[in-house]
Amino acid sequence: MSGFHGLFIPGPTNMPFGVRQAMDIALEDQRSPDFPAFTLPLFADLKKVFKTEKGQVFLFPSSGTGGWEAAITNTLSPGDHVLIAVFGQFSHLWADLCNRHELVVDAVNVEWGEGVPVDIFAQKLADDKAHKIKAVLVCHNETATGVTSDIAGVRKALDAVAHPALLMVDGVSSIASIDFRMDEWGVDLAVSGSQKGFMLPTGLAIVAVSPKALEAHKTAKCPRCFFDFADMIRTNKDGYFPYTPATTLMRGLRASLDTLFAEGLDNVFARHHRLAEAVRLGVEAWGLTLCAKEPKWHSDTVTAICVPKGFNSDDVVKTAYHRYRMSLGVGLSKVAGRVFRIGHIGNINEIMILQALAGCEMALRDVGISSVRPGSGVAAAQEYIRTTAPKLQLSKVA
Ligand SMILES: *Cc1c(COP(=O)(O)O)cnc(C)c1O
Repeated sequence: MSGFHGLFIPGPTNMPFGVRQAMDIALEDQRSPDFPAFTLPLFADLKKVFKTEKGQVFLFPSSGTGGWEAAITNTLSPGDHVLIAVFGQFSHLWADLCNRHELVVDAVNVEWGEGVPVDIFAQKLADDKAHKIKAVLVCHNETATGVTSDIAGVRKALDAVAHPALLMVDGVSSIASIDFRMDEWGVDLAVSGSQKGFMLPTGLAIVAVSPKALEAHKTAKCPRCFFDFADMIRTNKDGYFPYTPATTLMRGLRASLDTLFAEGLDNVFARHHRLAEAVRLGVEAWGLTLCAKEPKWHSDTVTAICVPKGFNSDDVVKTAYHRYRMSLGVGLSKVAGRVFRIGHIGNINEIMILQALAGCEMALRDVGISSVRPGSGVAAAQEYIRTTAPKLQLSKVA
């Protein structure tokens, strides 16, 4: 088939050509004397993306879910209490993972479409005079609902009562696309994966760990082997790994970091914000609503859009796939059939956003949502993109 299949899901994301090319290489000797010259700068540069100087970054051959498990098992013991808010499929799954590791999970159920309830957390932390809560878990960007939460606010709540709990953050669909400040926000464990903001195939869990978390690791009793930080620390210091690392993905990661740094992280975040605004203006022009309840929770990497009552969002996704060869995100779990999602994370530009909106408009009308006028969302996004593009000096014809 000609052209490209439109990939507008929030992960796996679109890979830059340079990243793909960087992985089109022979497999290499992961114990070679040259290997550390490649890995040590890679570790150092990853820290820049997490904005940590004090922390250490580990690379596991795994998906993001393994990063959750690494964070939990390395720093907690069975029976430890953790505080988490559940407001979407990913925060739900992380809470479930904690349960299966026999932690005592205080899950605050929040309406899907809202973010972390900082006030409720602040109260719970203030009430926990005995410091039974060992970790506070926050999903920075809930990919199921398109909601970004206030991590700095949670840190403030912890500090307000000098609570010593570890702060763990799922940044799988935020880090490298939305501003993330590990040291400034006092994040102890930050989890990401390769196939979202890092624009790579699935296969790396990227976990950044604070000195405080490494201290907790020394006494944490959860069973672990594959994900044990100790084995990584022992071997990573010389640029090696305790078992075969995903060398090809790491070559891709090198190219991905080079791409991010060449654009500049702040420019990457600004691009995501601008393109997300264009999508949101498009949705508004359709007369549809976002799953995210308030602007303060709007995600710059994924937009979840509610379909009107009486329609099934799965039909929109199916229609877009079969008739227009583009992938959109389905509604997950509680919002299945009610929302569809446009992923605008990673290697995305203006014209791709207009493509996505144009395809959605056709699919929405195809399933009978005729209140969506043809071209309405595209037009709104076009005008925003046009008026916010860098000014260009035009030459005059004499
Ligand atoms: C994708 C995602 C995950 C899970 O990552 P996998 O790589 O699929 O294991 C976890 N959290 C969030 C917020 C995600 O978007």
